[in-house]
Amino acid sequence: RSRSSVATPSLWPKVQNPVPEDPAIEARIKDLLSRMSLEQKVGQIIQGDLASTTPEDMYKYHLGSVFNGGNSAPGGKQWAPAPEWLADADRFYDASMRPNGNLPRIPMTWGSDAVHGHNNVTGATLFPHNIGLGAMRNPELMRKIGAVTAVEMRVTGLDWTFAPTLAVVRDDRWGRTYESYSENPEVVASYARPLVEGLQGKVGTKEWLKGAHIVATAKHFVGDGGTDGGKDQGDNISSETDLRDIQAAGYRPAIEAGVQSVMASYNSWHGEKMHGNKSLLTDVLRGRLSFGGFTVGDWNGHGQVAGCKTTSCPAAFNAGLDLFMAPDSWKDLWINTLAQVKDGTISTARLDEAVSRILRVKLRAGLFEAGRPSARPLAGDFAKIGAAEHRAIARQAVRESLVLLKNENAVLPLKSGQKVLVSGDGANSYMKQSGGWTLSWQGTGLPDSEFPGATTIGKALLDAGGQNAVLSKDGEYREKPDVAVVIFGEDPYAEFQGDVPDLLFRDKSDNLELLRKYKAAGIKTVAIFLSGRPLWVNHHLNASDAFIAAWLPGSEGGGVADVVFGKSDFKGTLPFSWPKYATQFVLNFGDKDYDPLFAYGYGLSYAKPGKVGRVNEVSGLAAGAELPVGTWFERGKTAQSLDFYRLDANNLEKLHNGIGTNGDVVRSFAVDRNRQEDSRRFLWTGTGEATVALAANAPLDLSRETNGAVSIEIDYRVDAIGEGPVKIAGYGAG
Ligand code: BGC
Repeated sequence: RSRSSVATPSLWPKVQNPVPEDPAIEARIKDLLSRMSLEQKVGQIIQGDLASTTPEDMYKYHLGSVFNGGNSAPGGKQWAPAPEWLADADRFYDASMRPNGNLPRIPMTWGSDAVHGHNNVTGATLFPHNIGLGAMRNPELMRKIGAVTAVEMRVTGLDWTFAPTLAVVRDDRWGRTYESYSENPEVVASYARPLVEGLQGKVGTKEWLKGAHIVATAKHFVGDGGTDGGKDQGDNISSETDLRDIQAAGYRPAIEAGVQSVMASYNSWHGEKMHGNKSLLTDVLRGRLSFGGFTVGDWNGHGQVAGCKTTSCPAAFNAGLDLFMAPDSWKDLWINTLAQVKDGTISTARLDEAVSRILRVKLRAGLFEAGRPSARPLAGDFAKIGAAEHRAIARQAVRESLVLLKNENAVLPLKSGQKVLVSGDGANSYMKQSGGWTLSWQGTGLPDSEFPGATTIGKALLDAGGQNAVLSKDGEYREKPDVAVVIFGEDPYAEFQGDVPDLLFRDKSDNLELLRKYKAAGIKTVAIFLSGRPLWVNHHLNASDAFIAAWLPGSEGGGVADVVFGKSDFKGTLPFSWPKYATQFVLNFGDKDYDPLFAYGYGLSYAKPGKVGRVNEVSGLAAGAELPVGTWFERGKTAQSLDFYRLDANNLEKLHNGIGTNGDVVRSFAVDRNRQEDSRRFLWTGTGEATVALAANAPLDLSRETNGAVSIEIDYRVDAIGEGPVKIAGYGAG
C-alpha cells in the first residue's frame, strides 16, 4: 500500500499566529532587502559550523549565521569553557559586522544544541534529558528549565538553541528516544509552550527574545519519532491524521507560544524526505499552522533530498527550507545557490522571502542593536554557568523524574543507621548519568575535570549516607552492609549510533552478578538504572528489592540521593511503556494488544506502595530466536548497495561500498580518527534498506586510527530478509 507524501492542508487546524506584524520591522526588512547584494542574500540562507567556518569566511561569504553541532567547539575542540565561547561569539559577530562597501551590516546569529542545559560548555547545569523531564509531568518546571538554559547561553554570547525536540517516540529502539518527553502526544504538547516561553520569554513582553532570553527551535518537523522500525532518519509511514495528531502534537502549542525557528527533520514521510516536502514545510507549517519564524535544515539534511547533494539543493529551498545547515558544505552550496538564483532555478522572490524571515527574527531579537555578544546582558557573567540556583532547579527536576518501579518490603527509603554499600559501573560516571549531547555529540570520552560542580549519584549517596555509606569500585565489601545500591545502565549515545535492534539491556559489566551476589548474601538490593529508554531488564529486576528508573539525570546526582534517603517522595511516572519482552518494539498505551510489564503512567511512591514480585525471565530473544520481519529493516525493500561515507571538512568521501547483497559480510572498515569529527557521521545510504549480513566480530581495520574510541558497533547479523521471519544467527554486544 503506498500512500502519497503530499499532505492535505485542510486536514490541519488553522492556528492563530501570536506575533503581530510590526510595521517598523517590516519597513526595515524592505529597506535592507533593497540594499543587500545577491551574494549577501545567499549568505543569509546558508550556515556553516564552527569546525569548518572561520570569521574570515563569514565576512567573505556574508554568512548570516554559524552553529556548533555536537562535536565542534571553539579552538577546534569538542567542548570548551564558557569564556572561549564568548570570545568566539565576538570574533564571528565582528566578522559579520565588518564594513563592506555600501552593503548593510547584518549581525550574525549563533545556534547551538543546548538540549539539556547549555550542554557544550564545561561546568554548565545539565538537566535530565527529555525522557526524564517527561516523567515529571511538571510543565511549570519546564518553564524554569528553559529560562536557566537561556541564561547560561546568554553568558556565553550565544543567542539561539536547537531545542526543544518535540518528537513523540513510538518505537523505543530509536537512538533518540531519550530526546523525547513521552510516547504520549499530550505530554509533549503540554511541555512545548512552557519550554519555549522559558527560553524565548513571552510574546508581547519587552524581554521576548532579548535580555535573558534566546531564540528556540522546535524540532524535527515532522515525524522524527514515528519512523518505521524506530530507525533514525528513516521513513515515517503513518497516516496524515496520525502525523498530525501524534507526531505534530507539540508544534501547535510551540507556534502559539511564538517559537521563532523550526528545524526540518531527517526522516521522510511515505518515502519523501521532509527537507523537500513542500506540502508540509510550506502549505501546512506556514499556511495552516501559521508559523512566522524561519525554518532551518538539519545537519546537511538537504543533501538527502532526492536529486540533491549537500552542496546543491534548490529543491529543499524551493520547498520552504529557509536556512541550510551546511556544516562543511557551505562554500560550494553558496557558490551553487548563487548560480541557481542567477539562472532562475531559485526565484528572487523566494530568496527574498527566506531572507526576510531570517531578518525578521534577527530584528525581533534585537540583534541589530544588541552590539557585540560580550556587551549584551548577562554576557561574561561566568558565575552563572552552573550557578547554585540553577543546579537547585536541575536537582528538583531529577527528584521529580525518578520512577520507582519496585520497592519490596519498603527497602526504600534508606533509613539512618543502615550500612549502605554503593557500587555498579554507573556509580561514579558523569558520562553515564548525562548521556549523549553532553560536551560532545556522543557524550563519550569525557574526563571528570570537564564537570566542575557536578555530582555523581554515587558521591551524592555517600554524602547523604555519611559514615555509614561506602563506595566500592569492585563491589566487594569488608563488613557486610544492610543495603547494597547498584548504579548501572546504558553507555552514552546519540542519534543513529543509539539505534538498537531490540530492547534487550546488554549489560557490559558485572552489575547483575553483583545484585545476585548481594541478594544471596542476605543483603537488601537497590538498583538505580540509567537509560535513555525503557529496556528489558528483568533479570536485574528480579535480583533487586527496589528498582529505580533514573533515566539520564545530568549533573545533579544529589536529586537521586534526596529521594533514596526519603527527603522527598517519588513523583515520576512512566512517560513510556515498559516492555515485558525485548521484542515489544512498538508498545504504546492505547494499542490494541497492549501488554506492558509496567504500563505508561506507572510509578510507585512511598505514599503509594505496591508489590511487584517476580517477573518473567523470558526476553523473547536468544541466539537463533525469530524476530518478526520489518521491525528493524524496512518491509519488503531490497538494497542495491550500502555505502559508508566519511565527512571531512569539505566533502563527503565514499569509504566503502558495494556491499549489500544478501549474505555479504562487512569484512573491514577503515576509520580515520586523525580528526575527531571524522567519526561524527557515517551515513548509510542506498536505495531501500540493506539486506546485508553483518558479521558479528567483523574485523575492523583500524590501522589509521590514532586516538579516541571507535564509534562503530556491529552487533547483529541478519541472514535473510523477506516476507518470512528473520533468523538472528549471531547476537552480542559490539
Ligand atoms: C541533529 C539535530 C542537531 C544538529 C546540529 C543533527 O544531527 O539531528 O538535532 O540540532 O545535528 O547539531
